[in-house]
Amino acid sequence: MSIAGYAKWAGEYATTFGLDRDSDIAMILAWEALFVALRVTCAELIAAAAVVGRNAPKWRSDHLIALQGAIRDARMARHRAELEAEEERQALQPCRWCKGSGWASVPHPRYVHGGEWHPFGGAFYTAVVACSCGKGRKIMDGILSIDTEVRRKKGIKVPLALEDYSRTVPDWPALLLQRERERVAERRAHGYAKELDKTFGQVLARLKPEPVPF
Ligand SMILES: [Zn+2]
Repeated sequence: MSIAGYAKWAGEYATTFGLDRDSDIAMILAWEALFVALRVTCAELIAAAAVVGRNAPKWRSDHLIALQGAIRDARMARHRAELEAEEERQALQPCRWCKGSGWASVPHPRYVHGGEWHPFGGAFYTAVVACSCGKGRKIMDGILSIDTEVRRKKGIKVPLALEDYSRTVPDWPALLLQRERERVAERRAHGYAKELDKTFGQVLARLKPEPVPF
């Protein structure tokens, strides 16, 4: 394994820092194995050399240390920037559970028994809780900041927080997901039946006796 452009970079590095004896160049060329092991690219080396150039080391032995330090710093800065960008991206995405409203619809605890969400009268009942995301917390904080007496007078109830609900129904994400899958399957099955109806007409029509010719 070698780094594309390494020999050229080594030559330029030697010239820039006055490391132009044969033994100096041999030393710089020998660093390549370490940079390969660290998966350093030529672009990283060029950037690192520029950083080292701002405060050129006096000793040969310090060059490699300075280069490694510059590469490490640049990688950490890049990693931090990527994390920040990812956090920003996630902050812009509406919350998965409340779609940004702050209120999450979850399986009603009364109808969850033995880790199963049971339908009642053919319907799956849900409860609305204050979401655990920023918006949900904001709503909750807003309600809690109202004086208890004022809340009582105005009939403002403190909603159940998703975290507290989760203690009662820890499997709620799986239950919601399962219900969603069932819904999709139902829609598909009905859609398929409708398609067949369109193609083959009424089932009863096919059961009508054929007119008997006299
Ligand atoms: Zn949310």
